[in-house]
Amino acid sequence: MIPFSPPRIDQKIIDEVIDTLKSGWITTGPKTKLFEKRLSEFNGAPYTLCINSATSGLELMLRWYGVGAGDEVILPAYTYSATANVVIHCGAKPVFVDVGDDFNINPEQVRKAVNSRTKVIMPVDFGGYPCDYDAIFAIVNDGQVKNLFQAGTPEQKMLGRILVLSDAAHSLGATYRGKRTGSIADCSVFSFHAVKNLTTAEGGAVSLNLPVPFNNESLYKMFCVRILHGQDKDALAKTQRGNWRYDIVEAGYKMNMTDILASIGLVELDRYAADTLVKRKWICEQYDAAFKDKPWAVLPVMDSATTHSCRHLYPLRIRDAAEAQRDDILQRIFNRDVSVNVHFIPIPMMSFYKSLGYDIGHYPNTYKLYASEISLPVFYDLTEAQIHTVTSAVIQSVEEVMAS
Ligand SMILES: *Cc1c(COP(=O)(O)O)cnc(C)c1O
Repeated sequence: MIPFSPPRIDQKIIDEVIDTLKSGWITTGPKTKLFEKRLSEFNGAPYTLCINSATSGLELMLRWYGVGAGDEVILPAYTYSATANVVIHCGAKPVFVDVGDDFNINPEQVRKAVNSRTKVIMPVDFGGYPCDYDAIFAIVNDGQVKNLFQAGTPEQKMLGRILVLSDAAHSLGATYRGKRTGSIADCSVFSFHAVKNLTTAEGGAVSLNLPVPFNNESLYKMFCVRILHGQDKDALAKTQRGNWRYDIVEAGYKMNMTDILASIGLVELDRYAADTLVKRKWICEQYDAAFKDKPWAVLPVMDSATTHSCRHLYPLRIRDAAEAQRDDILQRIFNRDVSVNVHFIPIPMMSFYKSLGYDIGHYPNTYKLYASEISLPVFYDLTEAQIHTVTSAVIQSVEEVMAS
């Protein structure tokens, strides 16, 4: 069976983890701090905070911006449920909008959804393809939209507009107008979950890129305390001789990354651009070549004049396939020993969100894309022979179903 997205665990990763285990320091410490620094250098973001998951990072930033009851947060209907669940945790209302054919949030629909309750827009760089950030910033900076904005907290007054909080869970290393994600939106949240392009097993990071008068360095320092109980000294500082006394300055969270996990991230990041991304691009090119002449294949957009994907997913679409036909094709591909997936089941189709009154009928393009989508395996160790098995399984399965 060809797996869908196994992590790349080689001797280098194992050695680095063992080095941490033997160092006497396993939780947040020097390797986490180094990983943060390397991530900022890579992204071009002023500061990056490592954290235990992207989900925590999104919630941390929503709460920092004072999002709560009566507020609205705009996000695509087509994303993983974490993007919406955190809005619910804060007591605010998720406002879903439809996506375009690139699977990303449609700026025209965002503009229609904005009102005086809107506090945040959460674009999702689907599959690693960055959203149209110029269009999104044109909305939040528009004079009329700014006049609508009702600032209720000091942070909201300081920004004076809707916050652009990017769910960049998929898009580490992707670029938009020459900038890597992390240095485009106000804040960008990355995921290092086991299936993501760069993994630490579980983990995430928040890149802080807020405009003046915000001070990203002091925000970073404040967040380091906030993600560790609100304790004014971290565990490493407390190990210094006689440095035992500490204070709790706020009711903080427990969201810190451990050095064991950061050591995996350091190895992964070191070879990310020159090795991981090159291999992923090559795999996607093999898929493009196999399907480009098939009349039933709608190939995913990976590059445009402004935008370059980091190829987190290969979301193939089967032209005119109904949901049941796609499901049938998917099963036949599995029967040929190839693991495939669907990204994602849109949030308005989930029972919890249906129970709140959301209806997929309001997001026709999201449904159309979902119904015909099949994600193919993309991972570092995928071989040329395996790619051939995948493409043959897909072609045979599609042609069996769509011919009948
Ligand atoms: C994986 C994912 C998340 C959550 O990431 P975690 O690190 O598991 O919390 C959020 N949004 C999207 C779009 C994702 O794919």
